[in-house]
Amino acid sequence: MATVLVFGHQNPDNDAIMSAVVLSQLLNQVEYAGNTYEACALGALPAESAKLLADAGVAEPRQIDSVKEGQLVLLTDHNESAQSVEGLKSATVFGVVDHHRIGDFETAGPLHYLAFPWGSSCTIVTKVAQMLGIELTDVQAKLLLSAMMTDTLMLKSPTTTDVDRTVAAQLGEQVGVDPVTFGMEVFLTRPSGSFTAAEMVGNDIKMFEPAGKKLLIGQYETVDKSRALGMIDEIREAMRAYAAEKGADGIVLCVTDIMEEGSQVLLEGDTEFAQKGLSISDEHDGVWMPGVLSRKKQVAAPIIAAAE
Ligand code: MN
Ligand code: MN
Repeated sequence: MATVLVFGHQNPDNDAIMSAVVLSQLLNQVEYAGNTYEACALGALPAESAKLLADAGVAEPRQIDSVKEGQLVLLTDHNESAQSVEGLKSATVFGVVDHHRIGDFETAGPLHYLAFPWGSSCTIVTKVAQMLGIELTDVQAKLLLSAMMTDTLMLKSPTTTDVDRTVAAQLGEQVGVDPVTFGMEVFLTRPSGSFTAAEMVGNDIKMFEPAGKKLLIGQYETVDKSRALGMIDEIREAMRAYAAEKGADGIVLCVTDIMEEGSQVLLEGDTEFAQKGLSISDEHDGVWMPGVLSRKKQVAAPIIAAAE
């Protein structure tokens, strides 16, 4: 019996964690393809994930940073190698459950690949349960709903689809919570009010490689952007340090205010494609972009398009 390691992207967010945890449980429950599935994480858990799992009595996924040659892996909430585990190119990809663009993805053999442009990977995991004929437990429903809410910023992000709204309502009904109220409670368990500049920059950041350039795009989600805006010089310094550490040419940070529904966008280093794609310039205090809540759809996609 082979073991498949199931994990989300580096700098995991709640969707990366919960998709791996619940998907592993479901596949183990039906002994899918005769394998054992182990949930892992490529980095420390976000505070909300750690709390949700502890409250539910579910073990935290094991933290790994590399895989051996030939290791079976199942990627959730990502597919691009720049965001994945060290050694991915020599691993065997058993499957992918994801809601992002397909980047540099290529495999030697056939695989399970489930992708929908829905608001969260956890929305797709609910469909996997249906495909397998499994009814979600209340704990599973709650964990999945939490990630649907954090990934769609309480269903406000333009990535939210009717499928997400329908599934969220169903899960909320099962667990006996209002999805948005519950999501806000989950969101507020993040200690973001005490984040340092380095944490604002590095907490949720992904590497992209538009036209061969290494560009980091980070997102710091908050209910009150004023604290971050009072720390601009420190944040800029932390952005330069993070980019240097990762060998990136440039770095973009979106300070996303979920109450005001927009993002203050800061640029450092070589951000030509970002400036072109977002139609903004490199202002010291950043540029306020109203309505910008989704890194994937409203930030990364236009930047990548501008580089083509
Ligand atoms: Mn994610
Ligand atoms: Mn996601």
